[in-house]
Amino acid sequence: MGSEHFAGLRFTCQPGCTKCCEVQGFVYLSEQDLSNAARYTGMSKRAFEARYVYRTKNFLRLRKPRHSQCHFLNEEGCGIHPAKPTQCRLFPFWPELVESRKEWKQTGKHCPGIGQGPLIQIGTALETASEMRQAYPAMYEEEERSGRRRL
Ligand code: SF4
Ligand code: SF4
Repeated sequence: MGSEHFAGLRFTCQPGCTKCCEVQGFVYLSEQDLSNAARYTGMSKRAFEARYVYRTKNFLRLRKPRHSQCHFLNEEGCGIHPAKPTQCRLFPFWPELVESRKEWKQTGKHCPGIGQGPLIQIGTALETASEMRQAYPAMYEEEERSGRRRL
């Protein structure tokens, strides 16, 4: 991480906040995320996918409703909270954020939990972030090839 290395991060998700669900972007799923969400909603995997998921050769992502970013965002928060997709569960511990002080700070502009709470060691944060690479291998392989950040 060179000059961008820093010893730790502070983060505590803020009660009642749903700002990260309202940010413009896509929610990607692993096959396991798809199974978990289908089971949680009491739907078959096939029915859940047909209704809520857009599948391409390398990616699965949630379809977006017309006037919001996510079908599952409601007044109480995430309607599938115990089974939400990996990227939602791990945010903001994404590799592209925890590996860059600049990106982490930038994300803090829309995530009020960043900078709050006890210090989290960088090693712990990186370990959490590595679950993103496991869940979305095609995305991170492509990023490494092209040098671009996708999320
Ligand atoms: S924006 Fe940050 S504080 Fe708000 S819900 Fe998302 S992770 Fe939690
Ligand atoms: S799945 Fe849940 S946590 Fe993820 S964007 Fe939708 S409402 Fe937010």
